[in-house]
Amino acid sequence: MATQRKKAAKKAKKEPRLAPDPYKLNPWFLVRNSKVHGKGCFARKDIPKGTRISEYVGDRITWAESDKRYEGYDVNDNHTFLFIVDRKTVIDGGVGGNDARYINHSCAENCESTVEKGRVYIDAIKDIKKGEELGYDYQIGRDKNDPPNVDEIYACRCGAPKCRGTMLWPAKRPKPKKKKKVAKKAAKKAGKKAGKKAAKKAGKKAGKKAKKAAKKRSAR
Ligand SMILES: [Zn+2]
Repeated sequence: MATQRKKAAKKAKKEPRLAPDPYKLNPWFLVRNSKVHGKGCFARKDIPKGTRISEYVGDRITWAESDKRYEGYDVNDNHTFLFIVDRKTVIDGGVGGNDARYINHSCAENCESTVEKGRVYIDAIKDIKKGEELGYDYQIGRDKNDPPNVDEIYACRCGAPKCRGTMLWPAKRPKPKKKKKVAKKAAKKAGKKAGKKAAKKAGKKAGKKAKKAAKKRSAR
C-alpha cells in the first residue's frame, strides 16, 4: 500500500511542468535594471522551487546563420542573446525573443536552463523570494578561437560570495599553446565563439539538462 502510494507520488512529480505563455507578460518576474549587468529579471512574488518560470524563445537558427548574423559585431561586446540548444541549433533571443533573455548569469544560481525536445526552459532550482534577481549559470564554453581578452569580456560581477569571476567554463583558461597569430583570426570569428565547446558540452549531456551557453546583448 505504502509503496503504491509512493509510486503514485513519483508519477505525479513527473508530470510536465507548463511554462507560461512566452509572449505574454511573465507572471513570475519583471524586468528592470540590474546591478549585475544591464537589465535583469526580478521575482514579482515568491517562486517555489521547481517552477517552470519561462521558455527561452527567439529566432531558431543554425550555427552558420548566427555566425553570419553577428559577423561584424565587436568582439568586446558580450551582449548577445544567443542560446545554444544543440549542435545544430541556436536560439537568438535578440530576434523575436521574450523577457527570458534578460535573465543574467549568476554564480549562485537560483534557476537553471533545461533543454527538452529542442525547447529551452528556465526553471527555479530554489525557492526564490519576491524581489530577488533570477540568475543561472551560463557556463559559456571556452574555445580555442577565443580572443585573448575573453576573460575580460566574460568577467562576472554577480557579487555572489562564491563568484568564480567569470561566466566561462571551465573558469580557468587552459594553458595556452604558443599561437599569437591565431588570436587575430579568432577576433574575426568572434561570433562563433559562443560555443562550439558549449555545444559539445550540451551534446554530452543531451537528454539530460543541457547546460546553456547564452551570450547576451543588451537591448539598445
Ligand atoms: Zn559571478
